[in-house]
Amino acid sequence: MNDFIPVNEPLLDGNEKKYLAECIDTGWISSEGPFVQRFEAEFAARVGRKHGISVTNGTAALDAAVEAIGVGPGDEVILPTFTIISCIQQIVRSGATPVLVDADPLTWNMDVTQIEAKVTPHTKAIMVVHIYGLPVDMDPVLDICQRHGLKMIEDAAEAIGQTYRGRPCGSFGDISTVSFYPNKHVTTGEGGMLLTDDDELAETCRSLRNLCFQPGKRFVHERLGWNLRMTNLQAAVGIAQLERLDEFLERKRAIGRRYQELLADVDGLQLPLERTDYADNLYWVFGFVVDERYGNAAALMKRLGSEGIGTRPFFNPMHQQPVLRERGFFKGEHYPHAQRAYEQGLYVPSGLGLPFDQLDKTAFSIKAICLNGITA
Ligand SMILES: *Cc1c(COP(=O)(O)O)cnc(C)c1O
Repeated sequence: MNDFIPVNEPLLDGNEKKYLAECIDTGWISSEGPFVQRFEAEFAARVGRKHGISVTNGTAALDAAVEAIGVGPGDEVILPTFTIISCIQQIVRSGATPVLVDADPLTWNMDVTQIEAKVTPHTKAIMVVHIYGLPVDMDPVLDICQRHGLKMIEDAAEAIGQTYRGRPCGSFGDISTVSFYPNKHVTTGEGGMLLTDDDELAETCRSLRNLCFQPGKRFVHERLGWNLRMTNLQAAVGIAQLERLDEFLERKRAIGRRYQELLADVDGLQLPLERTDYADNLYWVFGFVVDERYGNAAALMKRLGSEGIGTRPFFNPMHQQPVLRERGFFKGEHYPHAQRAYEQGLYVPSGLGLPFDQLDKTAFSIKAICLNGITA
């Protein structure tokens, strides 16, 4: 279909081409090129961190973070069930046990009031994940980490440029991570970064990224790492994107505000919170939960699809993943808020490249479908 409205389109009309041409003209295309360190320094500065370690994607950043803080057999890591599989893979692969908490039904972030009851003598770390545009309520988590001596990994992939009580997301974790996938606020095509203030953790992350080669005795390996190196080409795009981050954040908020206005009077849609007492929504995506009277999210997504509008479902919670259940995890556990968000939640076109006439068409379609009742 010609006028299909995609769920995400990035904006690449700044200095991306110019910096990429510089890579080609100079021959610097690998991770050894000068844009890589510059991007790391500029991104880390923007988030207020001492070290930025660029990697190939956000999932790889999480893998390296879990390995760097030393999660292994016998350890437990507490994380939200309502998140992406990227968060849990290295926890499971390392032989540790993932311990889940349910979602808050209004923000869809992890319900931080449920964390403390899940802390045991085996708990090694808490992984927080900022979801869809609002940050996790960090103060209670910081307090629990401090009182129990736990490490914190912060997944800020969806929260680049967001703040919690004025402090940047990505600045809270012993290690924080971001993704530069094209639907994130800064993209490099594929890419990610680890962020930390700890010199030793930074050194470990750099080593894990580069196959744990050792200075002086290059081909002697004391630890197993990965090749997660970002290329100069990716970093070139990242620097151009970062130059426009403030403009991008303003645009995200404008998209969110306009959907809020246009959908405010539709009965039975639970729209995202515009703000909490610790943050204004940044609308990484514009997602909402539909009342059961309209059927489920899948039915609405099908109807919108037939009108040429792209959508995505909300996360399928970790406690439902076949690959984890068949390993014996989460037997008999129920997380009703995450479950409902999955069944009834979806998000609609809300990328930086979305023209407002397409946004309006999307909102009017949602409205019309809900007014007539959904029959898929
Ligand atoms: C996008 C995303 C990731 C994964 O990033 P990739 O670069 O796609 O590997 C991890 N966590 C969250 C919350 C994300 O939104």
